[in-house]
Amino acid sequence: MTVRLETHDFRGSEEGEHLLIIGAVHGHERCGATAIRRVISELHSQQRIIPRGRVTFIPVCNPKAFEQGKRFIDRNLNRAMRPREDTQGVYEYDVMNALCPFLDKADILLDLHSFSGPGEAFIFVGPECSEEIQYARCLGARFLLNGFADLYSEDTVDADEGVGTTEYFRKSGGIAVTMECGQNDKETTDETAYQAIVNALDYLAYPDKRAKVPDHPLIKVVERIINTTGGKLARDWQNFDEVKKGDVIAISDEGKEILCPADGYLVMPDPNPAIGIEWGYLGKRKKTEL
Ligand SMILES: [Zn+2]
Repeated sequence: MTVRLETHDFRGSEEGEHLLIIGAVHGHERCGATAIRRVISELHSQQRIIPRGRVTFIPVCNPKAFEQGKRFIDRNLNRAMRPREDTQGVYEYDVMNALCPFLDKADILLDLHSFSGPGEAFIFVGPECSEEIQYARCLGARFLLNGFADLYSEDTVDADEGVGTTEYFRKSGGIAVTMECGQNDKETTDETAYQAIVNALDYLAYPDKRAKVPDHPLIKVVERIINTTGGKLARDWQNFDEVKKGDVIAISDEGKEILCPADGYLVMPDPNPAIGIEWGYLGKRKKTEL
């Protein structure tokens, strides 16, 4: 089956990079689609212009899942991303065949997502690349996050599974980030996504301003804090809370305290993980040189 994606293309009068902005890779995460549509209407009414480079928007990357308000139809679109001749009747493989040519062509990617729990926006960046970190710091979220690939590299059976939009995109030399804009279906999340697009368009338009970025911390996850016994979080931890070695992260059903292994940040705390899944991750602030 051939999937056709809705795309919108705008070119500036001056030469520059090609920016690709995409939404709804996960169908129930709607902020990207909403924010992209808002910016497209501003561009059509000429409230906003693209002075330099080229921008392509794909508001909805997984149309069927978006229609049904689901994360995906047959499998997570953000895994094992690559084109295939035989799509085996898997809807998302058909979507990848439609999406990959756009990922192949552009220089800079902004992939807009949201998450289920409360919390503030943050950005996944790849292995340290100063240009990518600089771009991420322009987008408006206070925290940048990476390190998951290293943390799981030992027990990854299929490296292909770890390839989502950004990993696929970086293979052809581009810079790419995933922005988690806030909680699903909140107006503030749509607004954060909108602001990120505006900031990405500014990044494209004004290369001389790129060096003046806010010093948002880059947090690298270095350790998994795994739930081995059941229990509950010791407090209402928030993503990126600063923690000290020995802080009680969680308490097992038998009353045993699960302690923080070192000073740093608590990343993506989960109040209800299954046994063998993380209560959260210990993150360390990485020094970055731009
Ligand atoms: Zn997502």
